Amino acid sequence: MTHEWNVRSLDVTRFADATGHARLLTPLAGLQRVQEACGHGPQAADEPQCEWSIDGQTRGSGSRLQHWMRLQAALTVTQTCQRCLEPMPVHIEVDRWFRFVADEATALAEDDDCEEDLLAVSAEWDTLGLLEDELLLAMPLIVRHADCQAPHSPALNDDLPHAFAALASLNLPKT
Ligand SMILES: [Zn+2]
Repeated sequence: MTHEWNVRSLDVTRFADATGHARLLTPLAGLQRVQEACGHGPQAADEPQCEWSIDGQTRGSGSRLQHWMRLQAALTVTQTCQRCLEPMPVHIEVDRWFRFVADEATALAEDDDCEEDLLAVSAEWDTLGLLEDELLLAMPLIVRHADCQAPHSPALNDDLPHAFAALASLNLPKT
């Protein structure tokens, strides 16, 4: 029997207890914050689709029972290379484990002591919002071709080392 889980309002305890699984395909347009972070450049003709899944799991038993969830996602968007200003594909991947704890205070108190991310348990978890958070965290801060072939133009040459070199040269005594 398949179970349709409501990923916008997920009962995470029930999801973990049931070893729930959901696999989804969400268009970039459905991930507004991610779309905004990609800039306004046109995407490829086929709108990017984020393929993602969540898996529930319990660990331990009795009073030590823990509720866990794994989030995996893959998405390829088009962003602008900051050197040559040409569009380039950027692949984003997420694979994270979350452990649900009683409340926000517990999550904050214990977060430093464990590898996994802690979230406050809820019967109405917005996993789509969580997906957006994680995609945003996984996006590169600087988008640039690994081997950018663009001819250098002074206007685009905004590397910090170059900027410092330019400043330094201004301070050289005239000969
Ligand atoms: Zn480039």
